[in-house]
Order: sequence, then C-alpha cells, then structure tokens
Amino acid sequence: MPDDDRVYSYSAVLMGSPILLKLFSHNEALAAQVFRLIKQYEDLLTVNRACSQVMDINLAAGKHPVAVSRPVFELIRCAKAASLLENSAFNLAIGPLVKRWKIGFQGDSVPPADEINTLLALTDPTEVVLDEAACSVFLTRSGMEIDLGAIAKGYIADRVRDFLRKQGETLGLINLGGNIQTLGSPEGGWTVGVKKPFDAADALIGSLQIENKSVVTSGTYERYFERDGTRYHHILNPRTGYPLDNELDSVTVISTDSIDGDLWTTLLYGLGVEKGCAALRVRPDIEAIFVTKAREIVFSSMHHFRFTLLDNRYRLTGNTV
Ligand code: FAD
Ligand code: MG
Repeated sequence: MPDDDRVYSYSAVLMGSPILLKLFSHNEALAAQVFRLIKQYEDLLTVNRACSQVMDINLAAGKHPVAVSRPVFELIRCAKAASLLENSAFNLAIGPLVKRWKIGFQGDSVPPADEINTLLALTDPTEVVLDEAACSVFLTRSGMEIDLGAIAKGYIADRVRDFLRKQGETLGLINLGGNIQTLGSPEGGWTVGVKKPFDAADALIGSLQIENKSVVTSGTYERYFERDGTRYHHILNPRTGYPLDNELDSVTVISTDSIDGDLWTTLLYGLGVEKGCAALRVRPDIEAIFVTKAREIVFSSMHHFRFTLLDNRYRLTGNTV
C-alpha cells in the first residue's frame, strides 16, 4: 500500500460523459494531464463535431482516402476486424444510422422504414478500405460514416492506464461513463457497482470486486427515447438498422484491456445470453455478466471477480452452456 492510502477523486465532463479519476495521492497536476490526454483522443476520434481525424475520413467518403495518425488507423483496423466477424453485431460503418436516429441527442426520431433501408446500404464494413503503408482510410461510397462510439472509450481508458503506469503510479481508476479501467489494486480490490436498469443513477443491483481489470457496461437504459409506447435504445442491429431487440437490459464485461470489454459488450449484446456464454468458452480472458429484462443475472464464468448481490428482486441464474 502507498504511504497515504486515502483516495482522491477528480472529475470532468468529456466526450459528453462524466469522467471520474481516482488516485491514491493528491496530485491535481497529474489529474489535469489525464484529462488533457482524454481530450486529445476525443479531438482525434469524435464524430460529434465537424473536426477530427475520423470526421476527415467521413467527409471524404466517396472522394478520396485520408491519411490519419497511427493510433487512429490501428483503432479503425481493430474495429473493422470486429465488424467482419461472423454474425457480428458490431459495425464500425454504422454511422449514417446513428446520425439519423440521434438516440441520446436532441432531435431523435424514428426514421421511416425506406430511409433505414437506404442508410443500411451505406454501412458495409468491407467498403472501409485501409492502406497500411499510407496509414490511410477510404470510405468508398459517398454518405458512409465511421462511428467508433462503441469502442473508443475502451481504447482511451487503456491509454489512461498506460499513462498512469508510465508516470510511476501503481494504483488508479478511470471511469469514462460506464467504462472503467484500473491500475493495480488497493487492499481488498476495487469495488465497482452494476447499475440497476431504468432506475435512479445510483441504484445498484450488485457490486463487483476486481483487481487490475477493466469493467465495461453497455445497457439499453443508458441512451434511449420512447415514442408511442416503444423504447428505442442506442445499440443498433447492423442487419436491420433498428435497436437490437432481445432478452437483455445490460451486459457487463470484465477483461484486462478495456477495448476488449467495450467491443465484447456490443458483440454479446447481439448474441444474447446463451450464444454469448457459448462464444466466451473459448475466451477465458473475457467474462460477462448478463442482466435480463426478467431480472435474472447470468455469469459466463467468474474467475476474475467477486459479485455481491445488492437487490434481491434480481435472481442469480447459472448459465446453461
Ligand atoms: P456502447 O454500447 O459501447 O456503444 C454504443 C454506441 O456505439 C452508440 O451510441 C453508437 O454511437 C454506436 N453504435 C450503435 N450501434 C452500433 C453497432 N451495432 N456497432 C458499432 N457501433 C454501434 N456523447 C454526447 O452526448 N456528446 C458528445 O459530444 C460526445 N462525444 C463523444 C466523443 C467520443 C470520442 C466518444 C467515444 C463518445 C462521445 N459521446 C458523446 C458518446 C457517444 O455518443 C456514445 O453515446 C458513447 O460512446 C456510447 O458508449 P457506451 O459505452 O455508452 O455504449
Ligand atoms: Mg461498447
């Protein structure tokens, strides 16, 4: 343990999300450096403003390739590979649909079916062309748009962990709004809450104890709107263009790297409980907690965390795989 075992918390709002940094020393200068680092990545990756390297690619769709920095290229390469997995629910080229639905932003609406079909035709991940030597990205059709919203926070959380380590820190936690990465472990581990879907922001169904791991949650309750009695949430089915519809309210992934957690929450969302647990049998490094609409909590496995149930209206159910 460090000499001073008090926790110091620093907060900011970046990427439209509340950001929380926990350190075990009072170090405002370091916290400011961390927030600057996050801001630098936001400036490279955002699609919510006109200027960023990703927006440069999007604005040149159908016209010409755009050379980008190596980290942006590598993140896009990773996102494309995940999009091309068989039956993947993840699609880095989902941008035109995300922009049209505007779920979580002002002006949200349900697009007409023919418009969704037109936009779906602009989301083919094979039409994101990467040139390794030139470090460039080309969207072959006008109107295509890359959206890294489902993976970028995980990537950035890992960069914050690496930065803290490089600065000589041995303990720290960064929360990028539901996307948590940790460095080291205080005595007893880090405690991370699992949110209760569609309830008060601080309502928890359980808590996790982890050491040196990332915890990422994706839920239908995070960004959604309701129209005519139907709820529309922000994780879209790349095959239909509508929000993914299955038995789940949320998926939490425990992994070493947060980029894996961010990616797998989307993949598992698409697979659902049974197929998701089956897929994770060959990935012992990735563990998931599924929370269903029927208030069941299912663990794919439980090697790298402990779980405490805090709401007895939820039932712990063994996975059947
Ligand atoms: P996840 O489940 O990890 O991802 C869901 C998001 O991924 C969706 O919001 C959509 O963007 C995208 N998506 C939807 N379906 C798919 C799919 N099938 N495959 C792949 N991707 C999909 N929010 C603001 O309100 N204002 C901002 O200015 C803002 N700026 C941001 C800048 C950056 C660099 C990033 C990374 C995020 C920013 N956000 C902002 C938040 C962003 O709009 C998303 O809401 C957020 O990234 C979703 O993360 P999540 O972990 O909650 O959900
Ligand atoms: Mg994600």
